[in-house]
Amino acid sequence: MKEISCKLLVIGAGPGGYVCAIRAGQLGVDTVIVEAGKPGGTCLNVGCIPSKALIHAAEEFEKVSHMAGGNSPLGISVTAPVLDLARTVAWKDGIVSRLNSGVAGLLKKAGVKTVHGWASFRDGKTVAVETETGVQVIRAEAIVIATGSAPVELPFVPFGGPVISSTDALALSEVPKKLAVVGGGYIGLELGIAFAKMGAEVTVVEALPRVLAQYDAELTRPVVKRLTALGIEVMLGAKAKGTKGDALLVETSDGKSAKIASTKILVTVGRKPVTEGWGLEQIDLDMAGKFIRIDDQCRTSMRGVFAIGDVTGEPMLAHRAMAQGEMVAELVAGHKRSWDKRSIPAVCFTDPELVTAGLSPEEAKALGGEIKIGMFPFAANGRAMTKLGEDGFVRAVARADNHLVLGIQAVGQGVSELSAVFGLALEMGARLEDIAGTIHAHPTQGEGFQEAALKALGHALHI
Ligand code: FAD
Repeated sequence: MKEISCKLLVIGAGPGGYVCAIRAGQLGVDTVIVEAGKPGGTCLNVGCIPSKALIHAAEEFEKVSHMAGGNSPLGISVTAPVLDLARTVAWKDGIVSRLNSGVAGLLKKAGVKTVHGWASFRDGKTVAVETETGVQVIRAEAIVIATGSAPVELPFVPFGGPVISSTDALALSEVPKKLAVVGGGYIGLELGIAFAKMGAEVTVVEALPRVLAQYDAELTRPVVKRLTALGIEVMLGAKAKGTKGDALLVETSDGKSAKIASTKILVTVGRKPVTEGWGLEQIDLDMAGKFIRIDDQCRTSMRGVFAIGDVTGEPMLAHRAMAQGEMVAELVAGHKRSWDKRSIPAVCFTDPELVTAGLSPEEAKALGGEIKIGMFPFAANGRAMTKLGEDGFVRAVARADNHLVLGIQAVGQGVSELSAVFGLALEMGARLEDIAGTIHAHPTQGEGFQEAALKALGHALHI
């Protein structure tokens, strides 16, 4: 049995863990990272990156298919395109593999030692890693838990046979003829929309009365409209109950039984933290439900043990994990750091895309004070028109007394790229006047943000 010591040990090389290790290495902290799978974790291998690759391919395919139907207002017609999903998946795998090497290279460049294997706690300072060549014991002054999350399995619709997780969906070599999606959250809809564009007949089964239920109905309306246009059937208030052969058995909102014939059944009903199977019980941390309880500096209930990323709860987003990882590395290096989650943007890569940052109108109203809301539709934005993306809007929410911006939301084609400016506005404590007074390039969809601020101030120029 080999034994090594270090100042910082990071368990898990997802976006939280690898960013933490790189930053610690840059600051001269003697750092070891342990990863059982490939560098980059869920996000890079079976999450953000591969799903966006598939979504992009599906978008391109749908655009060309639309042109082939002779329906394009752009005056372009082409012959019917053919999709070879196996090649698309190989292209996607190539991107993932390049990024895997990139992360491994960055860790090396920062002087971080990577140990490949499954880590288990022995005590609050010691971890044992099962590597290919035997058990490696690592003693560390500080330990960061960044073990991430895994898909939730429904006991009555278990994974296997036709029932697949998001991970399996990203590796399909053929487009399923009929795809049932259980769960109308962002992962289910992103993938459901992509497969519908690639030619699958998609049915979404959602137990709640709305899809994307964490967003307000006004914001999700353009997405719901698009689901209909893409021929996606959405069963609301419906519960998946089991399977029979390849069919999904469902209890509909009026209590009736329905059978959805399917080639594949994609279950996307949420993600659970990876807190089992690696000796977490040895250190008896305080938990917040199934997640590890942390304070504002990602400290757990045990001195010297931090936790970051999905294992600590919502919002389960890669950039939140990264921000936490960077902060913890700096804390371990002796810097003063804190972290404010208020300005974390969240993007949903549906069609159209959704972006939110800060408070929704409802959340802002719940603070008690008066608020101002300005909304600007993309139907009045020249750039959106030129992209056939008129459906959607930008909405700014601010305090009525001092015009401090509390939240920004947008729905529309390509609005994911506005997430940075929304986050920046909140981070900088922008007032409506700051946004209204910022000269935005023309013609861009960003002008919608400026106009939303102007609207809230009562003098929008283009509406
Ligand atoms: P993870 O990325 O889950 O990484 C944890 C790592 O720890 C894994 O590599 C695992 O192998 C390793 N590990 C676990 N236990 C051990 C152990 N005991 N020993 C050794 N190694 C261990 N987020 C976004 O922000 N934007 C998106 O567009 C987006 N799209 C997504 C699409 C899909 C289909 C999915 C599934 C997720 C998506 N997410 C997205 C969420 C994002 O992937 C996660 O929020 C992010 O990966 C969390 O990072 P993390 O570092 O906490 O953990």
